[in-house]
Amino acid sequence: MNNNKYPIVGILIAFVISLVLTMFNPDVLSKSKTPVEAYRVYLKGESIGLINSETELYAYINEKQQDIKDKYHVDNVYVPNDINVVKDVTYDENVMSIADIYNVINRKTPFTIKGYVVTIDKTNAEEYINDTDVTETDKEKSKIVKLNVLDTNIYYGAAKKVLLSFVTEEEYNNYDNDTQSPIVDTGEIIENLYIDAYTTFKDAYIPVNEKIYTTEEDLTEYLLFGDNGDMSTYVVKDGDTLESVAEANKMNVNELLIANSSLGSANALLYTGQKLTVGVLDPVFSTVEEIHKVEDQTIAYKTEYIYDNSQMVGYQKVQTKGSNGVTRVTQKIKSINGEISQMVFTNTEVIRPVTNEVIVKGGKKPVIVSAGNWGWPCNIPYRVTSPWGWRWGRMHNGVDLYPSGGYGSPIYAAKPGVVTEIKYDASLGNYVEIKHENGYYTRYLHMASLSRYVKVGDSVVMGQTIGDVGNSGASQGAHLHFEIWDGKPYKGGQSYNPLLFY
Ligand SMILES: [Zn+2]
Repeated sequence: MNNNKYPIVGILIAFVISLVLTMFNPDVLSKSKTPVEAYRVYLKGESIGLINSETELYAYINEKQQDIKDKYHVDNVYVPNDINVVKDVTYDENVMSIADIYNVINRKTPFTIKGYVVTIDKTNAEEYINDTDVTETDKEKSKIVKLNVLDTNIYYGAAKKVLLSFVTEEEYNNYDNDTQSPIVDTGEIIENLYIDAYTTFKDAYIPVNEKIYTTEEDLTEYLLFGDNGDMSTYVVKDGDTLESVAEANKMNVNELLIANSSLGSANALLYTGQKLTVGVLDPVFSTVEEIHKVEDQTIAYKTEYIYDNSQMVGYQKVQTKGSNGVTRVTQKIKSINGEISQMVFTNTEVIRPVTNEVIVKGGKKPVIVSAGNWGWPCNIPYRVTSPWGWRWGRMHNGVDLYPSGGYGSPIYAAKPGVVTEIKYDASLGNYVEIKHENGYYTRYLHMASLSRYVKVGDSVVMGQTIGDVGNSGASQGAHLHFEIWDGKPYKGGQSYNPLLFY
């Protein structure tokens, strides 16, 4: 307790001293007795404060003007021309510092430089494929984006860089110069490559307190990642691969390549210390690529067993040697921001038919057919339009498949099992869930309608038709979204890349 005595006395003394000082402070006792000379600053006819020196203000403004010139590499900075400084004799002693008065001017009427306002109008653009969970109000708001550039070339350069995130420089140049090689047998050509927005420019005096893009690189980053600024730099470590870097940053390899166009292709080799841009892509506009592609797809042969009672168990003979078939498929594929959003098979032609292998086995046909293999859930040929894994910062728990036959073509049970769910959901659309042995589940989303083939509780065999390919729920274009889970989906189960099962 005794220890506190002296500090209290100390505080009391300090208080008394400050009281005495206050009493002798002329400002407090008599509010301005002598008039002072000062300069009153007017902005647009309105007084904004007093300063001590007119020349100091103009020197300060010149200095700031030079800073802005240096920052933006421009020759002219436009200062508000309605600043007036008038000598004044006043009793008001609230003289402001030059820096403060400058800040007031800058806040009310910022300095400007000549540049361009770019208006990106997406009113007629197709919405992004993944924007299904964006509210209508957000969509309305994001339809028109305005940004400032120093020069229109910065915008053109950045827009080209964005396009080059989706195609190679060679593809871009050949498309642009109309020098693509025609398709002989197989190959692909770009039919259309464009930014899905209407862009206009207007020259303007742009306030320097607004964001003004001065380099293509800065603007490209904004055009790819949007306002969220959710991006960072990743430094490559020993042993990193494109896959591991993507996975660690909730991206897929494709997105990583889009964010780092300098990488080129998925075969790019990383080196330790290399800097990569990572983050969730949120492009300001959509880049659309439409390609015409002809390719040969291999149709793998299946193995059929014939059981011969007259032979001993264990007897086995290949009756027909199996051989893979080749089907030439012609496709029109439309991708938005690097993801397939629409496709059609315009032609399929059998180049070599598939021959299934036939094996004769001794003994009777077993009662239980081995269920080790997984059957393909849709028509063949097909195209994977979106892989399993991360995309747009969210986990895609299935694989999107576009089968020949497209909308209305059959969906097959991938394994024998029991139907556990048949539902409609705003996002999943019409779907069927099947439980298989060993705790596996499969799910088939975006069906054309609620299944008219099976009901909950039905047992199904592998290859049985359980629905038709559709476009229900949050889906852009007909496709089958197919999932394989170990354990009940979203209830402790773990989803796996279905392609690993085949
Ligand atoms: Zn999907």
